[in-house]
Amino acid sequence: MDKARLSQKDKLFKPERIDPYHATMPSKGPAFCGDCGASYQAGRWSWQAAEASAERVTCPACRRKADNAAAGTLMLKGPFVLGHHQEIVNLINHVEQAEKEGHPLERLIRITPNSSGLTVTTTGVHLANRIAHALDSAFQGHSEYRHNDQRTQVDVSWSRNA
Ligand SMILES: [Zn+2]
Repeated sequence: MDKARLSQKDKLFKPERIDPYHATMPSKGPAFCGDCGASYQAGRWSWQAAEASAERVTCPACRRKADNAAAGTLMLKGPFVLGHHQEIVNLINHVEQAEKEGHPLERLIRITPNSSGLTVTTTGVHLANRIAHALDSAFQGHSEYRHNDQRTQVDVSWSRNA
């Protein structure tokens, strides 16, 4: 078997992350996101300046934001959430800042207040987990996690009564 066919075969059978937003990256790099400025090189996203030859693309995080297609959803509920709204929003923004510095695809999509608390959506599973852990350690609530089989999606329910 010649080399071209071999690599074709490798591609077919290589177990990939089954995440549509990662699987459809149009370029192997170098590339940069025209929306947020993140750059893509050797399979990794970073905030480093892109090379002059880099191709302009839209990164998976910006595409998820545009489509409002969350990888992580947190439902924060209970009287404590309603009574400490701003404190919680500040904490969530702080966790996002810290997380996306090293992981550009981990971002907030939106924080939506509702009658039982807050709904928070993220572009990455990791950020959703980090927010839930930060809430646990700051406020000692109760959290439940539900992942899909591929672990490309997480729903977290977090609550604290008083
Ligand atoms: Zn982007």
